[in-house]
Amino acid sequence: MRDVANLPFTTKDDLLASYPYGSLAVDLKEVRLILSSSGTTGRPILTFYTERDYDAWMVRLARNLRLAGVGKGDLFVNTANQALFTGRGYTEAAPLVGAATFPVGPASPEKHLKIMAELGVTAFHAIPSFALKMANIAAEEGLTGKLKLKKAIVGAESWGEATRSRIEKWLNVDAYDNYGVAELGGPGIAIECPAKDGLHVWADHYLVEVVEPDTREEVNVGEEGELVVTTLSREAMPLIRYRTGDVVKLLPSDCSCGLKTPKISRIKGRLNEMVKVRGISLYPKVIEEVISSFNDLTGEYQVLLSGIDDITVRVEYKRGLKGCSLEDFERKIQAKVKELTLLTVKVELVEEGSIINDGKARRLVDMRKL
Ligand SMILES: [Zn+2]
Repeated sequence: MRDVANLPFTTKDDLLASYPYGSLAVDLKEVRLILSSSGTTGRPILTFYTERDYDAWMVRLARNLRLAGVGKGDLFVNTANQALFTGRGYTEAAPLVGAATFPVGPASPEKHLKIMAELGVTAFHAIPSFALKMANIAAEEGLTGKLKLKKAIVGAESWGEATRSRIEKWLNVDAYDNYGVAELGGPGIAIECPAKDGLHVWADHYLVEVVEPDTREEVNVGEEGELVVTTLSREAMPLIRYRTGDVVKLLPSDCSCGLKTPKISRIKGRLNEMVKVRGISLYPKVIEEVISSFNDLTGEYQVLLSGIDDITVRVEYKRGLKGCSLEDFERKIQAKVKELTLLTVKVELVEEGSIINDGKARRLVDMRKL
């Protein structure tokens, strides 16, 4: 397996250039399912499954569900988009572990919550922003006590511990991070176990490496780098050393749960979102973590870089903020940012609605003179 490091990398650009069928390694008549990435950068990336690929995918998703403790007696709802995207796989995997599934289809967080409360849903899959919306609504409308939720599998966007604790508290649920990449076959690459000390990689299907992004040399266990994944079982779309752009640490593989698979940390951020400030790597996600730990903030924010290395974090407070002066509140946020990033930043509180978010939020504005 070590020889894999001698092979060239595959990148997202390679896949974009091969649209639509250039990355297909079998005859199109062998394909049973075609799904698509979210395509945020314009052209989508397709992902192909032969019958064997599909079955192997279901096996991995069933393992994910079992490791998160979902099984017979559970009523499962998949809130993820059921059309083109790979998150839909959980709908078909849930019955494989004995759970009942209720395919709600496209619905708002409000509608999903209502159904969960009325039917006594015990487990769900969601992307973190959707789960957080449900959590906020549950808190505002006092629905937390009416829910029978036990387990949630959450993933596809990176999310941190502050977001997790808000989801767990307000939905009264135990939330597990799972890792997947559409072009590598969707969710089912890695998932947390109850120890929640890193994600177990399904190493019979995926070989993972963590490399230093510039030198592309493998980093040591415990050091940060870019996650590179080689598929070991895929027929329709095998990928060799695919650069995911996700920053993780490779962790020691011993785990208190007894599983001996390779383990990776939760995603720290995306490589293309990282900025170097005063020699420290900063990811907007870290700021998001801080912001989601304060109930009086809306969650909208911007990080402004100016001068040589001056950082201003602009955050929105909710209307009707009471109990402390804006200056005190700014100081509190500043201290929390310092604790998590070691950086001293200026905090600017602005009123709800001041930061325009048209769905493609510009979180980072770099106006530095470099
Ligand atoms: Zn474990």
